Amino acid sequence: MPTVKITMRPPGLLSRLWYRRINQTPPALEGSTRPTGHLARLVPYPLRRFHHAYATARGFFWLPCPLCGHEFGGHEAGKTIPDPATGPNRGRGICSRCSRTHPE
Ligand SMILES: [Zn+2]
Repeated sequence: MPTVKITMRPPGLLSRLWYRRINQTPPALEGSTRPTGHLARLVPYPLRRFHHAYATARGFFWLPCPLCGHEFGGHEAGKTIPDPATGPNRGRGICSRCSRTHPE
């Protein structure tokens, strides 16, 4: 069985900028990801072709946002909303634009 190693560390500058963009308090620690992922999610939302290409190339989902219905990539998912289909303590990611106005 393959294993995955996740290193927890304080959010870096790009990550903090992301949380500021979606109006969310950064976590004290977050899992390691590629720095390019942090940079890609900071690309302005209106550049949908870029986000679609990035999501496709990196294997992220490209699905409609459950709130606004506009497609977004897994790399730019922000806050979550409850998902009654999967039970308590589970949620569905919403797009960065909806995350900006959605309460934490
Ligand atoms: Zn949305």
